[in-house]
Amino acid sequence: MAEQIPLVDYLVLGDEPHLSAHECTTCGARFFDRRNACAACGATGFTTAAIATRGEVTAFTIVAFAAPGIPVPFVAAVVDCDGTSVRANLVNVDPDPDHVRLGMPVRLTTFPIGADATGTEAIGFGFEPAA
Ligand SMILES: [Zn+2]
Repeated sequence: MAEQIPLVDYLVLGDEPHLSAHECTTCGARFFDRRNACAACGATGFTTAAIATRGEVTAFTIVAFAAPGIPVPFVAAVVDCDGTSVRANLVNVDPDPDHVRLGMPVRLTTFPIGADATGTEAIGFGFEPAA
């Protein structure tokens, strides 16, 4: 099997792919980017928190125009995963208002987005409708 690397460092691959956040040990605020201090309280202690892989759509935009090479339309969304907001695209859904709605239950999914010359695959993520 080809080696796989996550597109972003907060995507954890494996048997059960999930997102991982830095959680402030003082106030519990979660951040996906690496920080030296908490933006909410200024504390500097962080632990790693696994983010729920299911959530619901709390905001979305159907993107009709994008840079050349990016297929449109697509759905950019904010998904609430058990209290943590995650920005991601919705996938495996028709990108129109008949199929995407606020409060829609979704789950994390991962997919290859390309491979380099050595065959190492880059893996991206999105959220798809949950049955
Ligand atoms: Zn904090």
